[in-house]
Formats: sequence, C-alpha cells, structure tokens
Amino acid sequence: MSGAVDPGRRRVLTGLAVATAFSILSPFARSAGVDYPFTLGVASGDPLPDGFVIWTRLAPVFNAVDGRGGLSRAVPVRWRVASDAAMTRIVKQGEVMATARFAHAVHVEVAGLEAGRPYWYQFEGLGAQSPVGQSRTTPQVHALASARLGFVSCSHWERGYFSAYRHLAAEQPDLVFFLGDYIYDSSYAADSGKVFRSHGSGNAVSLSDYRNRYALYKTDPDLQALHAAAPSVATWDDHEVQNDYANRWSQDPKIAVAQFLKQRAAAYQAYYEHMPLRASSVPKGPDMRLYRRLDYGRLARFHVLDGRQYRSEQPCIPANGSHQGHVAANTCSDLRAPGRTMLGWQQEAWLDQGFAQSKAQWNVIAQDLLVAPLTQRDLTSHKVGRWTDGWDGYMANRSRMLASIERHRLSNPVFWGGDIHSFWTTDLHADANNPDSPIVATEFVGSSVTSDGPPYDAFMQIMPLNPHVKFFDSRQRGYVSVELEASKMLTNFRVITDPRDPAATVSTLKSFVVEPGRAGAIAL
Ligand code: FE
Ligand code: CA
Repeated sequence: MSGAVDPGRRRVLTGLAVATAFSILSPFARSAGVDYPFTLGVASGDPLPDGFVIWTRLAPVFNAVDGRGGLSRAVPVRWRVASDAAMTRIVKQGEVMATARFAHAVHVEVAGLEAGRPYWYQFEGLGAQSPVGQSRTTPQVHALASARLGFVSCSHWERGYFSAYRHLAAEQPDLVFFLGDYIYDSSYAADSGKVFRSHGSGNAVSLSDYRNRYALYKTDPDLQALHAAAPSVATWDDHEVQNDYANRWSQDPKIAVAQFLKQRAAAYQAYYEHMPLRASSVPKGPDMRLYRRLDYGRLARFHVLDGRQYRSEQPCIPANGSHQGHVAANTCSDLRAPGRTMLGWQQEAWLDQGFAQSKAQWNVIAQDLLVAPLTQRDLTSHKVGRWTDGWDGYMANRSRMLASIERHRLSNPVFWGGDIHSFWTTDLHADANNPDSPIVATEFVGSSVTSDGPPYDAFMQIMPLNPHVKFFDSRQRGYVSVELEASKMLTNFRVITDPRDPAATVSTLKSFVVEPGRAGAIAL
C-alpha cells in the first residue's frame, strides 16, 4: 500500500522500530549471552489473503560445531500474532515443539486472518521472548490495491555488510523476494585479499556446515531487520548448494552423482530449516518443492521458479569434464537442443498452466537468473559465445516459455532475476535472435547485496552486440524496489555507497516505468 501519510504506514514504522530495537539494541539480546535462544531473529513468508508462515529457529549457540545450535532435546515454543505492533491485541496464538529433526526451527502456518493488512508476531521459548516481526496478509482475491515490493540476491558474507537489506527494510515493503545466493556455500581463501569478514569455516558440504552457514548469515542485524519488517518469498540459485551445480551434477566431475545428491539433500534441508516456507516445501531426501505461485489480489500473480533442481546437465562440457559455467562457442549444439530443459518438464508444464489461468493485471516471473540472451566474450580468450550456466545454455526452454506467454496473451509479463551481480533492464523478444521480432516481456535484474560484480568495461564492450539490453551497470551493490499499481510499474535500482561500510547510505541509480499493454521498460 503506497502513500506516505496513511496511518497504516505509521503503524508499520512503529512495528519496525520495535523489531529493530529488540534485535539490535536490546541489552537482553546481547548480554544474556549463550542462553538467549532467538539469536537468528524471526521471519515470515509465503503470505495468503488469510495468513502467512512465521519462522524462527532456537539457537543459543548459533555456531555449535554439531550444527544443533546448542540444543538437543525438544523445546516447546509459544507463538502469538497480534493486530498491533505493541502485541496487545492478540488474534491468534498457539504452541509448537521445536525439535532436533529440523535444528529447532519453527514454521507455523498462521490462517484465519483478515486480508490485506499488517500483523505482528512473536515467539517465546526457554524463558525468553523473540524480537517482534511484522508481516502482512495479501489482499483479497479481486482487490487491485497497489503494492510496494522489493527483490534482492547474492549476499556473500565475506564481501561486506548487508546495508542493502537495511535500506530495503526502511522502505517498508509489503513483500520482499529473495532470488538466490542468500548464502554462499564457498569461502574465499584467507590470503585471497577477498575476506572482509570471514565465514570462519571452509566450503559447506555436510548438514552441520550448511546449518551453521545459514545461522551465521542470520545473525546479521540488517538481514534480521529486513525479515522482521516484511514477509518474504524465497527461491534459490546455485550457492545455496554449490557453485554452478545443475540438478544432480556437481560442478566438479570428480564428485559422483550419488555423493552430490547427499550434499544436495543436506543443503536443501538447511534451506528449508532457515526460510519461512510452508510444509509443502519440507524436503524428501534430495528433493524439495520450491516452485510455487502467489497471488497478490488481482494486481499481480508471482510465478516463483526453481532454476536449479530439475535442469538438464550443463551444456557444452569441455574435454576436462568440468561442469562449471563458461562462455561456449555459439555453434555448440547443446545450447539450442530442444530436448534440454532448465526448469524440468513438470515445472515447464506447471508454468504454462499458471500463465493460461492467470487473471492478474501483472505477471511477475520471479527467478534466479538473467533471462535475456547475451552475446559475450570470454574474459581471457576474448572469444564470442554464450554463458552456459544461464538461460543461454537452455535456449529451447526459454523459447518455449516466451511462446507460452504469447500463446496465452499473458497480461503484462515481467521477469525478475539475480545471479549476475549487476543491474539489467532488457527487452525479451519473441525470437531471441531477431531484435525486430515483437517484445514479449520486460526484464529487470538486480545487483548483488555484496558479491563482486562482473568487470564493467569488458561488459560495456559487448553491449553493441546486444541491442535488446536497455541498461547495464555492475559497479555498485544494492537491491531493487518496485511500486506496483494497476496502471503502472515503477522500478528503482537502489545502490549503497560501500559494502565495506556498515553505515553505508543509499541512493537511486536509475528508475524505469512499465505501462500496461506495452512490454518494454521506459527509462525515467
Ligand atoms: Fe551470486
Ligand atoms: Ca549464482
């Protein structure tokens, strides 16, 4: 709900202030030391018109080497949802058991609430109270109310502070999308010159490794503030498991499929444990359902994709067997092979059906990657080609997806993505290789929260080969905020001054408008 003077916003601000005071300033939270169990904050997510998931994880010792957070036996946890920020008007409450099975994480699917309004929530366990978080139900099904949205990706702990999260929280969004690389499985070498604040451990492989990596990230006060300020919807990219993995294949050909699936199972379990997800996402071994839809009244339908779990094997694998992303010659037939899929056949069919049935004014496809084709040069050999780990490695799937949008005359499709650590605005054409074919959809990709961007000058040199790219900048870290109305989508690329400065300030790098009925962004 936009509008700076509306009283609802004022209440929201109070809620955020309460949550922030608890998580950052409370002497209780800090000086009670190892006994305080809510060291990882709180979160809410996957909202519906009548409820949302509320989350916390009890971890008095967030980095306990066994990954159990300093707890072993089951702990009863009380939860409350209130209609006011001071938590005086309780509308729902209950008790759940936090158990070692899910590392004492708690996921409560709250239902029976009113549509389109804020709520506040809090947990109590082991004699302590959690910070207060603010959530929000989505509007009722036919509502066309406006929304304030944000999306983020790629927060590498070792590369700096999460000021981007803090500034997005301050914008009081109604809903936030995490589009992948929420954690990084990999750590920089101590002597790499890259470690600004250390993970304190190497590459994650086991369940305890992944649990402790999430726990470390969750101790960040800016990340806690963002989760406490708004409900979120999360999908993943590669680094929640391993760089450039595809389905059951590690980037490293020496890791056998069976072994890699064990690592994937550990990573997926830790992901579920640390995100405000519904029970439909409880992992079964190495499998976990993450793709899903979310309707925001009739204003928007969000199609949230999983770009990693069901992929065909990486294309154009070189002689050394490496499954890492690379720039492959445009002539490599894998890039266009119609039998290959990025989303997997089931998810492709599900997406086509979601497009067919959508009655929303806007259709946002929230996923992990740059969708637009990109002719680029290998940074060392300077040979021209396509990046294999992205949509260019799965062109036939991209064509099917865009054809589905056209076939169903999908209302106002807009793609959101991350992964590439830079801002992009592109036109997605019906025929990716023909810039004269009609523009089918609009695309915005957000920069990283902290991760290093690709070399600006080298990428600017390839832009003449890519006339459908309307904007590119990789020089600053940040996030994207979106003001969505029935008659207009306003997208702001927001940048922070310096990821190494915990008090970094924020400004707008560039803004774009998308008008209904006309694919393609208009620069402001
Ligand atoms: Fe990343
Ligand atoms: Ca990535």
